[in-house]
Amino acid sequence: MKYEISKSDIVYALCSENEPVLRVPDHSTVVFHTCDCFEDQIQSENIDFGELDWERINPATGPVYVENAEPGDLLVVHIGKMELASQGVMTIGPNLGVFGDELKENAIRMVPIRDDKAWITNDLGIPLNPMIGVIGTAPQGVSISCGTPGSHGGNMDCQHITTGAYLLLPVYVPGALLALGDLHAAMGDGEVGVSGVEIAGSVTVQVHVLKGKAWPAPLLINDKTVMTIASAEDLDEASELAVKHMARLLEQECQMTTPEAVFLLSAAANLHVCQVVDPKKTARMELPRFIMEQRGFAFKV
Ligand code: CA
Ligand code: ZN
Repeated sequence: MKYEISKSDIVYALCSENEPVLRVPDHSTVVFHTCDCFEDQIQSENIDFGELDWERINPATGPVYVENAEPGDLLVVHIGKMELASQGVMTIGPNLGVFGDELKENAIRMVPIRDDKAWITNDLGIPLNPMIGVIGTAPQGVSISCGTPGSHGGNMDCQHITTGAYLLLPVYVPGALLALGDLHAAMGDGEVGVSGVEIAGSVTVQVHVLKGKAWPAPLLINDKTVMTIASAEDLDEASELAVKHMARLLEQECQMTTPEAVFLLSAAANLHVCQVVDPKKTARMELPRFIMEQRGFAFKV
């Protein structure tokens, strides 16, 4: 059975008290229909920023209660097909992103999606890299705005959270309460201007509960790479956390001592920026999967 959630079933914060809109058995397939991060309020470049309802930002569709998910488990979200609307939107302006100190005015750019490209200007089409900006479970005890990333996931804006990848999120509350939204048709690492090509769409995912693994999360696994993702007040702290999470994984799953893990990470892993523009910043540590598999790392659902 395939489940589906409409884009009118949204939350603006991830929270243990959110009422689930759907309950699904372990291993279910769920289609999430999503608004863009402005809740589809911007349909033309002529709209006045002041007219926007800023309370309706970063909606996430859900949450979904996954049966069998208990605190201490990991929720594996296998990301399948992503469909995008025919037009995305980008915004820039004072106090937004890396150029917030230089820009004098807000500006909106509508970005048509055509021929598998996002048209940043009439004559400049860039390749699509569809990805999920906001995806997370309910955090423990607190409510966290969908605009903020953390150990529960949230607004990580990681360009590898896309079709084919497995995202492992912590389960803090029974049912996990998974929600997602904020799709991007394209986004560069950093998301420096404050937005990607923000777009409505839909995502099909399969959810699996993983028991008995104390792996650091969020953890992202695709065919080639294993990535630890971490968010913190600044990029230094986020980077350090992401790196140390990878060491913890190597110690647990690859029978490595801490010094061995440090040698390996320094020689073979790549530290990247996910985003530098959200209330917390996000970094990821990437290690080729085949290297970990040589030392016994095994992942399957
Ligand atoms: Ca985002
Ligand atoms: Zn976004």
